[in-house]
Amino acid sequence: MPYRAPVADFRFLLDHVAGFDAVAATDRFSEATPDMTDAILTEAAKMCEAVLAPLNRAGDLHPAHLENGVVRTSPGFAEGYRAIAEGGWIGMSADPANGGMGLPMALTTAVNDMMSAACLALQLNPLMTQGQIEALEHHASDTLRDLYIPKLISGEWCGTMNLTEPQAGSDVGALRTKATDNGDGTYAITGQKIYISWADNDFTDNVCHLVLARLPDGVAGTKGISLFLVPKFIPDADGNPGKANDLRVVSLEHKLGLHGSPTAVMEYSGAVGWMVGPENGGMAAMFTMMNNARLGVGTQGIGVAEGAYQHALAYAQDRKQGKAGGTGSIIEHADVRRMLAEMKADTFAARAIAMMCACAIDMAAATDDAGWRARAAFLTPIAKAFGTDTGIKVASLGVQVHGGMGFIEETGAAQYLRDVRVTAIYEGTNGIQAMDLVARKLMDGGEAAKLLIEEIRAGAEAARASHADLAEAVWQAAEDLQETTDWLTAQDDLQQRFSGAVPYLAAFARVLGGHAHLAAAIHGDAGCARLATFYIKRLLPEVTGLLAHVREGSADLLAITPDDLAA
Ligand SMILES: Cc1cc2nc3c(=O)[nH]c(=O)nc-3n(C[C@H](O)[C@H](O)[C@H](O)COP(=O)(O)OP(=O)(O)OC[C@H]3O[C@@H](n4cnc5c(N)ncnc54)[C@H](O)[C@@H]3O)c2cc1C
Repeated sequence: MPYRAPVADFRFLLDHVAGFDAVAATDRFSEATPDMTDAILTEAAKMCEAVLAPLNRAGDLHPAHLENGVVRTSPGFAEGYRAIAEGGWIGMSADPANGGMGLPMALTTAVNDMMSAACLALQLNPLMTQGQIEALEHHASDTLRDLYIPKLISGEWCGTMNLTEPQAGSDVGALRTKATDNGDGTYAITGQKIYISWADNDFTDNVCHLVLARLPDGVAGTKGISLFLVPKFIPDADGNPGKANDLRVVSLEHKLGLHGSPTAVMEYSGAVGWMVGPENGGMAAMFTMMNNARLGVGTQGIGVAEGAYQHALAYAQDRKQGKAGGTGSIIEHADVRRMLAEMKADTFAARAIAMMCACAIDMAAATDDAGWRARAAFLTPIAKAFGTDTGIKVASLGVQVHGGMGFIEETGAAQYLRDVRVTAIYEGTNGIQAMDLVARKLMDGGEAAKLLIEEIRAGAEAARASHADLAEAVWQAAEDLQETTDWLTAQDDLQQRFSGAVPYLAAFARVLGGHAHLAAAIHGDAGCARLATFYIKRLLPEVTGLLAHVREGSADLLAITPDDLAA
């Protein structure tokens, strides 16, 4: 089943849901005209359909492997990577001063969605580089910026992020990698990092690692961590990669999925690195990359959901089983129709949230307004967690639609599920995203949440005249969400908040999805309206149960002892 990029869906979300007109109206993004936007989406779609999608299976069947200490990538990945680099898709949103296109993150998000659907394992490589470019733009010295960013944008070099160590996963502050001052403006980096995505390859001239490490006087925890740029080959002043650095790929992991993406154990043995950002300010600098990657990983989930949906739809249109009526295919059965509708409606909701988040990031960049920054920060964990949870749910439903054939590898349905599963784990597990939402992102007393909920209520009020039933359901869900948000912000004991963090994030995403579907009912065709009705009448009511879960707090949950669980 060939992948068809959903260009019309992106256009619709940009025009009617995400607020892209405001982005395009700013001086900074004035080049993002409708013609330019169409050209970008259409060109990216062509590359994803024709070049990347045919590589997906090869990545799964022929994983990246280690050969004499060098990573050999899956068949066709080098050519696929070159197409991405030559198309300029890596540096779409990077600063034009360094060779980037300076386009809105909303467009990068749409392109990342298409690339993820086409070949997730390969797309993870440029996604890491995009995040690194942004981190260097904001935190690196002029010398480092000038030397590295143009090569990263052109794709000659690529970037990685190195946080995780065996004892430091979600708790990054527990890391032990050391940095010592060489006295010549460089540092010696020593330690082991694990699970490093795309730590090496056989198609770029250099690999640039952003590594978190601790200086000798760095205090314990995250406050004593600094960030270093550690290249595989040390470049000369003209950017020619020279001497090999003292680092190596020790091994590659055998994984459930995402086989085409090498996941490495890395050993740094006094490797030469350059500090990025201030001493002990590494976490703040790395957060620039992590926030970029969080939206990017949410978008990976959405892209895979799209691919899985298209596969399942084609199968359901073809497979004959039982007295189905109509075309005689299983798509005529109510339960199969239910599964496909759920897949399509949730993918639309998750994509709308990612686009809203990207537009908020763009507005923050264009206006430097604290309100836009707060909105972007609030939406980021929701976009990450709901996008990836949706990817997993939709890919799992995709297997179900296929029946037994879904469990048989040759249909490709199972690969989507295996590949996407990690997206809820890496870049901060979805549990950690939800805790961030209810703690740090509500530290403003719930102001950013309130403004979003008010916008949803206003949208519902405006829709009452034409879509009374749907508008009332969205309005009521938003009202309930505000009440629970008030309850949460009143809880000083963080355990009270954390115990319901995941259902709160899910409820917020559901309500945002209702808002987007209501807009689709108003501005879209009759098919959009029918899908919106399905979402608002059948999926949105989940909010009631989710919010009830949140408001139970922590007492009964934590009363269940570890012994109870082990009994
Ligand atoms: C394929 C793959 C690629 C990866 N790529 C990279 C990469 O490029 N760079 C990199 O640095 N890392 C990478 N990672 C690592 C990834 O980010 C971590 O696996 C992730 O952050 C979770 O850490 P952990 O595996 O140690 O799990 P743990 O932190 O041990 O978590 C286990 C469980 O406990 C929960 N948990 C942990 N702490 C808390 C808490 N305080 N409160 C509530 N729940 C908690 C988690 O949510 C999770 O459910 C990758 C991982 C994989 C599998």
